[in-house]
Amino acid sequence: MPRHLFWECLHLDHATAIRANISRQNYSVCPRYWYVDAVFKCSRCSENFCFTAAEQKRWYEELGFYVDSYAKNCQDCRRDERKRKELRQIYDHEIEVTLQSKDIEAKKRLASLIDEMCSFEAVLPQKIHENRRVLGRQIDRSKNQCDG
Ligand SMILES: [Zn+2]
Repeated sequence: MPRHLFWECLHLDHATAIRANISRQNYSVCPRYWYVDAVFKCSRCSENFCFTAAEQKRWYEELGFYVDSYAKNCQDCRRDERKRKELRQIYDHEIEVTLQSKDIEAKKRLASLIDEMCSFEAVLPQKIHENRRVLGRQIDRSKNQCDG
């Protein structure tokens, strides 16, 4: 295993090596002939994590990742990141319509989606917090109308 493919790696466990099928890989000069469990430090939470040989096979042979790429973050952080993007996409897609709409259930759904975004992202753009407050006021107002 050429070291340069995993230059930030803290530890390689050669006993875990599995043979690669290089015909399925995306590479320009140097393919990966073997996959080996490799330990890295997560760039997000700083915990050590293992990028396993089996995961590498999936990345480079099934998902089509370029062989020079490798996991920078642990699985938990990667999952959080996917979730964060997914929430942000829904938000971006729905916020304008939902603010204008009279559908209180849609406003409640989007308000709790923003609350969930806060748990994945320490710092959200100010505009999102403002929109959360607007939604909150719209929801409160609808409650008052029902009571009265
Ligand atoms: Zn992490």
